[in-house]
Amino acid sequence: MPDIIKLLPDSVANQIAAGEVIQRPSSAVKELLENAVDAGADNIQVLVKDAGKTLIQIIDNGCGMSVTDARMSFERHATSKISEANDLFAIRTLGFRGEALASIAAISQLELKTMRLEDELGSCIRIEGSKVIDQSACTTAAGTSIAVKNLFFNVPARRNFLKSNTSELRHITEEFLRIALVYTDIAFSLQTNNKIIYQLKKSGLKERIVAIYGNNYRERLVPIELKSSITNLSGFIGKPEFARKTRGEQYFFVNGRFIKHPYLHHSVDNAFREILPADTYPSYFIYLETDPEKIDINIHPTKTEVNFQDQQHIYAILKSAVRQALGKFNITPAIDFDVEQSIDFLPTGNHIPTANPFDTQPSEYNPFDKGEIMPGKKQESQREKSNKENWEMLYDTGSVQARRDEESVHSGHLFKPEEETKVASAIFQFAGRFIITRTTAGIMVIDQRRAHERVLYDRFLAQMESGTASSQQELFPQQLSFPHSDAEIIRDLKPDLELLGFNINELGKNTFVISGVPTDSVNKNIKELLDKLLDNYKKNLVDLNQDIRTNLAKSMAFNLAVKAGKIMGSEEMEALISSLFSSSMPETSPSGKKIIGKISEEELEKLLK
Ligand code: ADP
Ligand code: MG
Repeated sequence: MPDIIKLLPDSVANQIAAGEVIQRPSSAVKELLENAVDAGADNIQVLVKDAGKTLIQIIDNGCGMSVTDARMSFERHATSKISEANDLFAIRTLGFRGEALASIAAISQLELKTMRLEDELGSCIRIEGSKVIDQSACTTAAGTSIAVKNLFFNVPARRNFLKSNTSELRHITEEFLRIALVYTDIAFSLQTNNKIIYQLKKSGLKERIVAIYGNNYRERLVPIELKSSITNLSGFIGKPEFARKTRGEQYFFVNGRFIKHPYLHHSVDNAFREILPADTYPSYFIYLETDPEKIDINIHPTKTEVNFQDQQHIYAILKSAVRQALGKFNITPAIDFDVEQSIDFLPTGNHIPTANPFDTQPSEYNPFDKGEIMPGKKQESQREKSNKENWEMLYDTGSVQARRDEESVHSGHLFKPEEETKVASAIFQFAGRFIITRTTAGIMVIDQRRAHERVLYDRFLAQMESGTASSQQELFPQQLSFPHSDAEIIRDLKPDLELLGFNINELGKNTFVISGVPTDSVNKNIKELLDKLLDNYKKNLVDLNQDIRTNLAKSMAFNLAVKAGKIMGSEEMEALISSLFSSSMPETSPSGKKIIGKISEEELEKLLK
């Protein structure tokens, strides 16, 4: 048998490597931006078309490349940034793996123009799927321009996997900001389909943040600074009163590199926790400088995950720096603790059921009277008539029921209707979160929030399907502005938002007029609702890859469902249970959580043994 192992051709190897480094257009934007920063540019322009699917072009005025380097830069493991293994422990540049250009060139039609300041002629290279099509001398400005066309043109599987333009553009914007928020001495611009989204001059950090997020950030930021032997820390945190109901701007950078670090995030969160309500999120832009030897950035090809040697120390330093900053600026809680927001703030005992069955028993009530726990015919109220099958389906009660019927016949004891009336209304709320009621087989506990989420979710989906949403016209239409990327989403979602009962018109410049809202959201803060909606929507998009309507219905339901802590009257609870049992899946919430718990008669008996 002949030998069968052979080396893969470079083009194939590069394509495989590209799978790791370049997942979507934004990954290419990130890599090219990093290269421009590493090249020492102080002006970097990013142009994209169709969210980077047809064109990504990055133009910098950095050091440029010689003719040979220009050609070499596309070889795999070709880098000017490190030359020996030891260098890996002292990395000061953003790139060092030498795979980005090779990877991008393997999966696109790429054109490079580059010239060093000292040269008179630059070089121009065209590559398609790793194959050099053309290389020639050309006139070009000092610096480098790389145009990446038709990304994934030869990897249709990847291309088909790309999300909507809105979503891909959001990723691109995010990568752009992660760089622009660090290199404030570089001027940046981001342009999509010939529209300028960001035009950032060289400036200090605060000015840069304000230029990106808007003027009202000027008074929201508190500087944070701490020097220690392990790390120098600087940046800004958002004042607590501006904490958002949605995960806002939360950025960590280490040695000029954006990182994701749940552990460090926890530290900041912790420092804020005492002065923020449970479901708000602080903004922060925190920059750590540390000895490159003490971190490992090589653990992931996209280099957003970093290991620190002194993790615990940095945690402690960070927490105390945030606290100091909050203390120094005399920041005291200026937030309304809304009782409905969190059960943490509920006085205990206050939410004892209004319909406590033990209060409403008739005086001659005899708990040992067998008839009392019998399934009752009276329970055929309007509610149960329509939902009876659901109830019964939920409980495999056949045998218990038969046994009980038999027992009751034997004991000669049958239901007395008045007693049943009392029993049937034995629905009560516990701890502001649970609705407790009885069924033929025992006791049923319903999570009120999850139940409501299910009911709303089904309703919103149905409304979008049938176009029958009810909308409440706002007496005073609200004018709301959104960050560019959110405004894009709203534009995309507009038809479906209208099916839900929103009435939205764009005024231009990312500003919208809301003249009608879904009836379910009357009395809500619409800006907050839309912010949360967008946030959930984005999250669901990334995590679950859902279609627009499912995603929207889910987000709406999540945001409008009653909170734990909401005191409910018995009629409200009855209505909720009734709708729950006529919903598509009474047992599971749209987020996949259990809605109903049951305690059987047997289990109750055991409790008392
Ligand atoms: P890495 O950045 O990890 O070194 P890349 O594949 O991204 O690997 O780039 C390869 C090399 O090409 C870089 O090391 C650098 O020398 C050169 N290069 C890439 N982009 C630029 C640019 N915009 N300006 C100057 N040189 C560049
Ligand atoms: Mg690079």
